[in-house]
Amino acid sequence: MNEPTSTGGTGTMGDKGGRGGMGAMLNCTAAERRLQRFLDQELTDDEAAEVQMHLEQCENCRSRFRFEAGLRRLVRQGGRQEAAPESLRARVQQLLQRRRASP
Ligand SMILES: [Zn+2]
Repeated sequence: MNEPTSTGGTGTMGDKGGRGGMGAMLNCTAAERRLQRFLDQELTDDEAAEVQMHLEQCENCRSRFRFEAGLRRLVRQGGRQEAAPESLRARVQQLLQRRRASP
């Protein structure tokens, strides 16, 4: 696990300032907030487009999105059964720990 140094371009981690620059870009927090509704397809076209745009530029959120989407699939397929394989659980925990360990 390496710390992401400078891959994203705009992604300065640990800085909560809302100075994105370009108006159209969502920041990670906003994208995350919309993620659930995005998956539920409850967003308007504009909102969804913004999320999509962010996902294309932000690898962090993209992998998160993939993860959530995959999770939903599993849930739908597996119903309420505990169908999550070990590897998936590990990833969940990794994600959770990552989020906690903010600089
Ligand atoms: Zn992001």
